Amino acid sequence: AKRAGGARFVRFEAEMRERSARRTDIETDLRLALQAEQLFVVYQPVVALRSDGGTDRSAGVEALVRWQHPVRGVVPPFEFIGVAEECGLIGALGDFVLERACRDFVRWQHELGELAPRLLAVNLSRAQLGQREWAGTVARILGETGMDPQRLQLEVTESLAAQDTDVQLRLHELKALGITLALDDFGTGYSSLASLHLLPVDTVKIDRSFVSQSETSHHHRVLIEATVKVAQSLGMNTVAEGIETLEQADVVRALQCDKGQGYLYSRPLPQDALAEWLRQSAV
Ligand code: C2E
Ligand code: CA
Ligand code: CA
Ligand code: CA
Repeated sequence: AKRAGGARFVRFEAEMRERSARRTDIETDLRLALQAEQLFVVYQPVVALRSDGGTDRSAGVEALVRWQHPVRGVVPPFEFIGVAEECGLIGALGDFVLERACRDFVRWQHELGELAPRLLAVNLSRAQLGQREWAGTVARILGETGMDPQRLQLEVTESLAAQDTDVQLRLHELKALGITLALDDFGTGYSSLASLHLLPVDTVKIDRSFVSQSETSHHHRVLIEATVKVAQSLGMNTVAEGIETLEQADVVRALQCDKGQGYLYSRPLPQDALAEWLRQSAV
């Protein structure tokens, strides 16, 4: 038994070494990627679920970062956002995404007029909110790109927003610029409905894990319904994330969610493909 345990340990060590080597690789490559313009931004439509005509109208888009790695191909964010946070690259990465997304949004406004998305959602990480001067950086990017602050929504997670006075301060600075805030992945982690009123958020995004079980689980439907009720009573609107089927769309619509997002409507798309999606869905 001892020998087997030893062998397991050697294997464990080898795995850990491999993982940390991969992490170091990603870190080195990510530094280059920021300079070599290998990072790009894709956009997933967010649709209005309860518009009067009964049809789903485009309400906005969420910006999601991608990395076109020369050897590995497209690397998904979960493989490098954490690394970027740990090695201090998240500031540069976050600024890149925000600036790119604002430019693309303003371009849609010019090219698409009425059909342009109404709202641009951009994800924030903890490290960005830790920077004291960050609200100033955001103000500069808004000015340089001509982005209307009222059209920008920054998404934060609960673990990030809760109980940190520094973060709270930063969120209020952002709100003072005219930007709105969304609470992302609601229902995961140690969230509670009671804590919603403590955060200066305008929108609650109900996590995909609730939406995907909404058809089969009464329990999940009840939790969605309660979240929507509390959000509404606090003057916040709600987005159901990760809608993949028409049935899920019907369920969250019946539960009074305001907006929806998911593969049912569209996968995240590059700038030009998103413009095309908006033109197509208008007819
Ligand atoms: P998120 O903010 O919760 O974004 C939604 C994720 O769900 C995206 O994954 C999106 O592609 C995926 N998704 C959307 N609809 C569906 C669906 O119907 N089914 C399924 N299975 N998935 C769906 P993605 O793009 O891989 O991003 C993963 C996470 O990485 C994001 O989760 C966000 O936390 C983070 N992230 C992405 N871009 C950025 C960024 O620019 N900055 C920061 N700080 N984080 C980012
Ligand atoms: Ca998000
Ligand atoms: Ca989310
Ligand atoms: Ca997430």
